[in-house]
Amino acid sequence: MATLGNPKNTIEILQKYHFNFQKKFGQNFLIDTRVLEEIIEAARITEDDFVLEIGPGIGTMTQYLCEAARSVVAVEIDTNLIPILKDTLSAYHNVEVLNADILKVDIQKLAQEHNGGRPIKVVANLPYYITTPIIMGLFESHVPIDSITIMVQKEVADRMQEGPGSKEYGALSLAVQYYAKPEIVVNVPPSCFMPQPKVGSAVIRLTRHEQPPVDVKSEKLLFQVIRASFNQRRKTLANGLNNFGAFSIGKEQIQQCIEELGVSANIRGEALSLEQFADLSNIIYDKQTQKSE
Ligand code: SAM
Repeated sequence: MATLGNPKNTIEILQKYHFNFQKKFGQNFLIDTRVLEEIIEAARITEDDFVLEIGPGIGTMTQYLCEAARSVVAVEIDTNLIPILKDTLSAYHNVEVLNADILKVDIQKLAQEHNGGRPIKVVANLPYYITTPIIMGLFESHVPIDSITIMVQKEVADRMQEGPGSKEYGALSLAVQYYAKPEIVVNVPPSCFMPQPKVGSAVIRLTRHEQPPVDVKSEKLLFQVIRASFNQRRKTLANGLNNFGAFSIGKEQIQQCIEELGVSANIRGEALSLEQFADLSNIIYDKQTQKSE
């Protein structure tokens, strides 16, 4: 039975192994059974599921995952946690712990080996210092994914859900919304962690779209256009795109593309919707292709 959601048991384990928290790994362990249950429920795990957990810590959420899923792989970077996980997960035979940096793991291969290439579920209380590269890595590498249910900094969760016009709207909002439907599950205060983080947190569920909500001629170009538009937030869209330097068309043609989109030449990137970014990237794609012919 899962036992580590109880702070007393967590402290006992930490003391038994003389564990020292490593700030550089973003270690804030969950000590609230209600939050753990909410994460498991939001992830909608069934007995058929293969779950990838990123950063199991001492195995608190891993215990819950092992009880709900068919099989679990937990990737933990901190070597000092490996003997602890061996102990706390000894009752479960459906879990494998990998001592590795998640950013260097071939998740495609993992999904193939453990789930026959079928969509996997990712569940994690993420280390906040690498939230964006982890999420973008999962989406951009086209790993077969059903959903990602993660604890992130509250501000980052909000950013993922925002639309045009909001201060928080940016490249992450657009990328997440291109690949998935974001839904905040619950806000989580610092008191639910040991040690307590300085920021508020939230659990967010990202359900992968079967088909992206917009049609683009090149995904790579769409993301270049998005990145260029938000790189220099205070510049106009035209200047942002021109200064980015990755497009094979000149300033005048970039202006023409923006006009073709039907918006003002002085517009800023943060005013465009995902649909408009998709249209703009298709217009730029055509202009670049015409130029190279
Ligand atoms: N899942 C545990 C919990 O909820 O109590 C721990 C969560 S803690 C916020 C983040 C965990 O991710 C830590 O155990 C940390 O060592 C691990 N971690 C940090 N960077 C990592 C990386 N690059 N790859 C894999 N794990 C990492």
